[in-house]
Amino acid sequence: MFGLKKPHVLNWTTTLFLSLTFVGGVIGTPIYLYFYGWSTPLFCAFLFMFSACAMSITFGYHRLFAHGAFNAAWPVRLIVLIFGAAAYENSAITWCSEHRRHHKHTDHEDEDPYAISRGFFFAHMGWLFLRYTPERPHDNVADLRKDPLVVWQHRYVQVIATIVTFVIPMTIGWFWKGTEGLLGCLIIVGFLRVVCVHHVTFFINSLCHTLGGQPYSSRTSARDSWIMALLTFGEGYHNYHHEFQHDYRNGIRKWQWDPTKWSIWLLNKVGLTWNLRRVPKEKILLAQIAEKERHLQARLGQKQVTLSETAAHILENARHHLAHAAEAWEARREARNNALKAAAAAAAKTHTATSKPSLDSLLIALRREEEIAAKNLRRCIAAWRSAYRLACAS
Ligand SMILES: [Zn+2]
Ligand SMILES: [Zn+2]
Repeated sequence: MFGLKKPHVLNWTTTLFLSLTFVGGVIGTPIYLYFYGWSTPLFCAFLFMFSACAMSITFGYHRLFAHGAFNAAWPVRLIVLIFGAAAYENSAITWCSEHRRHHKHTDHEDEDPYAISRGFFFAHMGWLFLRYTPERPHDNVADLRKDPLVVWQHRYVQVIATIVTFVIPMTIGWFWKGTEGLLGCLIIVGFLRVVCVHHVTFFINSLCHTLGGQPYSSRTSARDSWIMALLTFGEGYHNYHHEFQHDYRNGIRKWQWDPTKWSIWLLNKVGLTWNLRRVPKEKILLAQIAEKERHLQARLGQKQVTLSETAAHILENARHHLAHAAEAWEARREARNNALKAAAAAAAKTHTATSKPSLDSLLIALRREEEIAAKNLRRCIAAWRSAYRLACAS
């Protein structure tokens, strides 16, 4: 039942906390509103804390710490660690360790901490009621342990969470409206806000592995859904994320709802985040093509479609040229990346920001070669698309 079958014991602390916050928030809120009525300042405080904590998980815990999709200045890291702690989803070290395991072993019943293959409820929150015996080691977060702020948060995560979630809001509430303010901050800004942030995050592990399309890869259960993106601060483009986990974006198109991506980008403009990692457009197109090919092969295997000899020949030809063009483009990219690393090392040696003139001209030449290879690749992609359309129509 609930996908619980491996060596586990009940995690009493988490179970009690999840139950208490649920009862306090979901049952306590209507009772509070019945006795004291609607309060706009209380609603604003709820909204602020909800957004700050949820974004600290998506922006901080997830894209910054778990995936290293960008770098951030220490004040940014400190803020997301403080509000991230108040999300009551454990420390960044524990969260990232579990999340990295999720990416490495997606859908694997024993290794993925919140595998959807063990059922919707298990992936959503069932896994939190359990403790593995023996506990899983945090052996995949050595990089995070080098950050003193992350280590500090790991040590004091419960203290920080209690102060930010309950002590400060309830003190402000008391000075604002006495018992009414104190209770409002406890029930709405505290309990209800914690429950809402929890389920927004839990949706990513459950619904984002259940609802939506798989344009980039069907090798895992991760899915893309704009509705889920609306609910999860942009994390709903989960199929893309599982395929390209180091990209700072989840919604790659400009119009796709991804406030986490926009925040990272905006902070980059004022110098507070840098090294924003983006997957090249060509690589994304190749992933989409690979997925379409998988579909076609599956349909051919099930005899849902058959290809005429001409269409099969044209498609095979297009595949051949595409594979060569992709290989050549990758080789040029690698050559330029290696040269860039060499330039950075040379600049560091001479303690100047500029590289040697010979290295500069080499970089320009390599960039030009990469552009030509990319142009050829895009031409082959267009040819493959025509061949694929012909094959599907035949
Ligand atoms: Zn996932
Ligand atoms: Zn992830």
